[in-house]
Order: sequence, then structure tokens, then C-alpha cells
Amino acid sequence: MAAPMDCLESLEGEGSVGRRASGVEVALPSNPGAPAPQCPHGPTLLFVKVSQGKEEPRKFYACSACRDRKDCNFFQWEDEKLSEARLAAREIHNQRCQPPLSRAQCIERYLSFIQLPLTQRKFCRSCQQLLLPADWREHGEHQLSADISTTQIARPSQLLYPLENKKTHAQYLFADRSCQFLAGLLATLGFRRVLCVGAPRLHEQIRLTAPGEKPDMRSLLLDIDFRYSQFYLEESFCRYNMFNHHFFDGKAALEVCKAFLQEEEGKGVIMVTDPPFGGLVEPLAVTFKKLIAMWKEGQSQDDSHKELPIFWIFPYFFESRICQFFPSFCMLDYQVDYDNHALYKHGKTGRKQSPVRIFTNIPPNKIILPSEEGYRFCSVCQRYVSRENQHCVHCNSCTSKDGRKWSHCFFCKKCVKPSWIHCNTCNRCALPDHSCLGPKDGCFICGSLDHKRSNCPSIGASQRANKLVEFFCFLEKRLLVSSFLGAIYRSEKLSEGSGLNCYSHHYGL
Ligand code: SAH
Ligand code: ZN
Ligand code: ZN
Ligand code: ZN
Ligand code: ZN
Repeated sequence: MAAPMDCLESLEGEGSVGRRASGVEVALPSNPGAPAPQCPHGPTLLFVKVSQGKEEPRKFYACSACRDRKDCNFFQWEDEKLSEARLAAREIHNQRCQPPLSRAQCIERYLSFIQLPLTQRKFCRSCQQLLLPADWREHGEHQLSADISTTQIARPSQLLYPLENKKTHAQYLFADRSCQFLAGLLATLGFRRVLCVGAPRLHEQIRLTAPGEKPDMRSLLLDIDFRYSQFYLEESFCRYNMFNHHFFDGKAALEVCKAFLQEEEGKGVIMVTDPPFGGLVEPLAVTFKKLIAMWKEGQSQDDSHKELPIFWIFPYFFESRICQFFPSFCMLDYQVDYDNHALYKHGKTGRKQSPVRIFTNIPPNKIILPSEEGYRFCSVCQRYVSRENQHCVHCNSCTSKDGRKWSHCFFCKKCVKPSWIHCNTCNRCALPDHSCLGPKDGCFICGSLDHKRSNCPSIGASQRANKLVEFFCFLEKRLLVSSFLGAIYRSEKLSEGSGLNCYSHHYGL
């Protein structure tokens, strides 16, 4: 997962809305046949800046992988025509941004490296590179590690420093507790092949077997981090962009992935992914559907109803967003921990509990969560739940999402976070310091942040008065017992739905 975890809480809203904090969303191309231009990270994505109430916004292409223009500054308006010269310059730039070594060269170097005696095995920490004797001079002034053991080569995620740049790699490595739990779980569930998409530490955990022992699980890592190509042969690593399903080493790499998924007619394989969380859910879902389709191609006819088993690791507040794309997925209570995130550790040891969960299409009653960590089985819900997650007899389910004990509100007719209280003005539960009837996120009508409903420029003054009447009428009719006031109102367009019915009734329209 990719998380500026420190600001995870403040970004909670993004999960349900499906847009970046900057208000940018993925857009559909005006001409569906038009191929997207390429940046160094493969085909770009089409975006649109959401600015409701103003004129039709202009769409633009930008990098799929880098959310910061400092990392990849590709920008092109959808309707922009580029000169031949600029297209040629772009092509050169894209080439120049590729890693210095080809995949084949990396493999050749790896094979030479493992032949070296221990005393000659050096790693340059400054360049994040395994060195062959011929490279030593060039790295003479750099920070080197010596005597790189076979165990160290097998654990590159401990040798390399994590690329924490939130806006691109957002490399947050699993803590041992979580990594061992995941690998153990995959074995218990009987999987023989694991496609690790953006999960380098899980990949290496799966491959670690006692010397002489035959590995019972194989793993293929797809990751954008070039540094990993030094440590693996063709069949266990492909440099890949999960936001556009781009294989950096072309068709050969795609075939490796395809063969891996389709082996044994697709039986015994699972995909596990822990994507950068700062990215948008939609392009990830599109990519995962492409991987699913690849797997399906290799299936025999009578298996055609089956689904590719998936673990998608992501923060709990993306639940509705993920389930929108994958309705068969459910969220497990297991809290996934990270090494380079002291702030989010499991339970009592860290300061806060991790908000990261596993979303899966495997029936949750098959997934046993560790009782040592307080998880227990709820026979009514038919799943393992965390210690504090109590079964609510009114909701008839274990309702907590964040691992804290939630309490039932009889007005809202649902369980709510422990920090919330029922507000009679808003007719819903909220934080005690919320501002009544004022949606924190701006105008009720157009959603803009810089004004309130009463000053919305998208409607004239008289219309505004009518809308106001309509609004209160709507409130009354719907009795708005639960849920999010602003969201409901905005989603029911003013001209449609029950709001207008009541409006028409009053004003004879
Ligand atoms: N918890 C995992 C690592 C998750 S961090 C583990 O310990 O195994 C996210 C991972 O996704 C990183 O390895 C990062 O290099 C990779 N990544 C980031 N952006 C990506 C992209 N666009 N395509 C593919 N992988 C990406
Ligand atoms: Zn790019
Ligand atoms: Zn160096
Ligand atoms: Zn309840
Ligand atoms: Zn309430």
C-alpha cells in the first residue's frame, strides 16, 4: 500500500468519492479508439479536473504511475496536436528515462554475481546496485556493503532502501508478522502459485525455503521498481506498471505473466496486490480485470464460472469503492502492518492501529485469523473478526470497520464509530464538534469548496430560493434518518428523483 499513512485519516473521504484530493478524476476518452500517448511509464491516462458548475472541463493526458509532476512531467491536452519534431523529442525522452541496463543484462550480471566467492560480493548502497569486480573502481568513493550472503540476495527488500516517495512508489514493506501470516495463509489455502503485484517482500517470503527443501509455492513479482530486476531471473520478476497494465520489457514479459496465470489450466493460482494507495481505485480495477481476463483465457470450458482468487490489500475506507468494481469481494478484519511505518502497528504495541485490510473473493469463513492476536470466529457472520468487533444484535452483524468497538444508534438504526454522537439537528451521528447542516466539503448543489449552497454561482437568485424550498421539502419527505446528508442530496440531481417530485407537487410544475 502506498500510503502517506500519517494523513490517511484526513483522506478517508477520498475512499468513497473516488477522486484525488486535487479533484482530479479518470475520464473516458472523447474518441474511444484514440490510443493514449506514451510517457516513460507506458500509456498515459486521461484525466479531468472536477469543477462542477463551470463550463465543460478540458481533459488531459498525464502519467499513470506518478502522481507528482516532479517524478514525471508528462502533460498533453486531449485535443492537442503535436508537431512531428515534438513527438520525436518525446520518443527520445522516453527512451532516455529507461533503466541503464536491459533485462537480459541484469540477468547475466545476477548469474555472475552468485558465482562470486563471498569476499567479492559487494553491494553499492549509493547506487542501489550489486557490483561485479569490474564495477568496483567506478564505485570506489560510494557507500558499499561487503560479503553479501545468499540469504541477503534472497531478501532484496532488506538490502534495498524502501522508496518512500509517497506520490510514486510509496513502498511500504510488510512487517514480519503480516508477511509471515500472509505467506502461511496462502499455503494453508493450498495455493501453488502467487502473482505478487506490488508486493516484493511477500514475493521473497514465499520463495524462502529451507536449503534442500523443494518449494511448494512459486511466486512471480510484478513491480515498477527497477532495482528488483537485479535479483531475479525472467520467470520470477517483470517490471510492470499496475496503473496501465504495461510490461516494460514488452511481449516476452507479458508472456511470462500469461504462462504463470494459465499453468495447470489456471488452477492453484492467486493474485495478491498491495498497490500505492494514493493512486485511484478505478485504473487499478481496470488492470486487475485485464489480469483476470488473461487467467480466464487459459481455463477449460466447465470452469468458466470460476473467479481468479484475489487478495487486494488496501485501507478499510475504500471498501465501498472496491466492492463497486468487485461485488464479490469482502473485507477481512485482519490488520496489515508495515515495517517502515512505526505509527501504524497492530494493537497495543504501536500508537495507532493499522487501517489496512485484505479485500478478497475467497469465502471469509475459510480464512482463519490468528487467535493469538485476538481474532475470533463469529458463527453468525461466518467470519473471523477482531477482538473489539462485537456482534450487534440489532444490525445482525459484527459492524466495526476500524477495529474499535462501535456502538449502535437507535435513531440512525446502525452502528457508528465510538467517537460519534447522535445530532438531533443533523438527524445523524457525527463527531461532537461537527458543524450542523454545513457539509464540511463545500456547496450542496455543485460540490465546490469555495462557497456554500446559498451563493452557488450555478443557479440564479430566484432559482436559488426555489432550490432552497425544494431542499427543505426534500429533507422533510425523506426524513433523512441515516447517512450522509450532502452526499445524498448531491447524488440525487436537482431535476430528478424524489426531491423534484415534491417540488412539482408544491408549485404545480
Ligand atoms: N507491502 C508490500 C509492498 C507494498 S508497497 C510488501 O511488503 O511486499 C507498494 C509496491 O508497489 C512497491 O513495491 C512499489 O514499488 C510498487 N509500485 C508502486 N507503483 C507501482 C506501479 N505503478 N506499478 C507497479 N508497482 C508499483
Ligand atoms: Zn510517466
Ligand atoms: Zn555506486
Ligand atoms: Zn448495530
Ligand atoms: Zn445516530
